[in-house]
Amino acid sequence: MTKKLYTCPYCKGEHETPGSFARCILDCEEKIKIEEEAKQKVKLAAEKEARYKEVIDAYENFEELRSKYVDDYGSFTFKTRSADIDMCNLILNSLGLI
Ligand SMILES: [Zn+2]
Repeated sequence: MTKKLYTCPYCKGEHETPGSFARCILDCEEKIKIEEEAKQKVKLAAEKEARYKEVIDAYENFEELRSKYVDDYGSFTFKTRSADIDMCNLILNSLGLI
């Protein structure tokens, strides 16, 4: 007589007892959860790196445009009343860039 085997839906492992079958399902679910968390961490790190590069590229483009503007017109100043822009001017000024 052939003994009934329980097959784990995740790893397809075959088990002779319901207890072993249940433990396999729980272990497989835990492994899947850990793998997904690791993948998510890698994905978030890659997104962060890409966003950082995007900011650096935009900054370098800004610097190139600003530099050409200064070459052609002598100086560059943000013309707005925004406090953020005023702070940006202050920083650029303190760095000797404007
Ligand atoms: Zn399993």
